[in-house]
Amino acid sequence: MGEPQGANGGRGDAYEFDAPAITGEIPVPQESTSPRAMVAFSLAGLAFGLFYVVWFLVAYPTPRWLMVAVSVLTVLVFSSGVAFARTRFATPLAIGIVTFAAFILLVYTAVLSTDSSVHMLYLAAGFAMLALFPEPLWRLRIVYAGAMITLVVACEFLFAEPAVEHLVEVGRDSILAAANRLWTVVVVAMGMGIVLYRSTRRQRDLSGAAELGEYLASTDVMTGIANRRPVLAQLHEFDDEKVSRYAVAIIDIDGFKAINDRLGHEEGDALISAIARRLRAHFRQTDLVSRWGGDEFLVVLPNITREELFSVLDRLRMSVATSPFSLGADPIAVTLSAGAAIAGAEDNSREVIRAADLALYTAKHTGRNRVVLADDSTIEAVQVQH
Ligand code: GH3
Ligand code: MG
Repeated sequence: MGEPQGANGGRGDAYEFDAPAITGEIPVPQESTSPRAMVAFSLAGLAFGLFYVVWFLVAYPTPRWLMVAVSVLTVLVFSSGVAFARTRFATPLAIGIVTFAAFILLVYTAVLSTDSSVHMLYLAAGFAMLALFPEPLWRLRIVYAGAMITLVVACEFLFAEPAVEHLVEVGRDSILAAANRLWTVVVVAMGMGIVLYRSTRRQRDLSGAAELGEYLASTDVMTGIANRRPVLAQLHEFDDEKVSRYAVAIIDIDGFKAINDRLGHEEGDALISAIARRLRAHFRQTDLVSRWGGDEFLVVLPNITREELFSVLDRLRMSVATSPFSLGADPIAVTLSAGAAIAGAEDNSREVIRAADLALYTAKHTGRNRVVLADDSTIEAVQVQH
């Protein structure tokens, strides 16, 4: 320490460290069709197609080969939905499948009758847009959902009577209608499930991202203890609420440049982190331990007397001086110097930090490995300078 450092302290040589890679899921907006939604809807469509293949084969005295062919095509189209759900073709395919499904339903409705409730499936298809088309395509979602609802209403009038002579016995027709209503319920329930799941997950991602952001903004990435931000916030709060009797202690590693030169920066980083852990364990839970910069730590100790302050800092100094850190092969002997000041009723936090900094300067210049508390005259001297 060549000169006293200001409240925002000089940090000696500029030193760059590589922040560790941040792992953890950072949410990105969903850009494509969710594969799960695509698979779910395709499977429902596939089951629907298979049901019709069988139904057109067995329900008529003479099988309706054209309708069997249309139903087989339905099965194939929905199978492609399952097969390509996890590829980049998923979104255009989803649009194609919905268009195809609407057309096929129109054919079924024309051939069967509105009593068969086939047209109700348009409602389900309309709802499926919410889950099937990705969010950025919201205009397309509205257009398709609107078109599907229009089709339900139109079919109700257009196909009041079957366009082709109805060859199914009345009992069978009601089974068919029940099956079609069932598909409708299944698809709507699936859509609701997917939409609910997604909104819950998004909510969780957002709160996770907010927490991660808050954590990163208030934490020193290298050591995992607080950075300056929460300290300044806490001190501003003390200023606003005119809190006194809290102390600010600034603790600096002695001769750290030499340690760095001897061991290399990586080991130096590890030592700073080990000291940060030692500090965190030494102070009370209510004390805010932060990395102020470089090899310097600042601790805010609320509600403390001068004697307690000296005692807690000197115990720390002694314990560090007498128990070297073992990081690599050889134990590293380290000493700390600390300067601290207690806030009086009239002092603001800037003055308290400055007084602690001057006390640290004194500790460094009177031999290091010591604790110096600012007395009232130091704080007054600081006040005069302002
Ligand atoms: P003094 O006893 O006066 O404090 O001497 P010092 O050598 O410790 O001097 P000072 O505190 O002014 O310098 C601290 C050095 O710490 C300067 C810089 O090279 C180094 N340093 C700062 N930040 C980091 C860091 O994140 N990692 C490592 N390894 N070194 C750092
Ligand atoms: Mg130092």
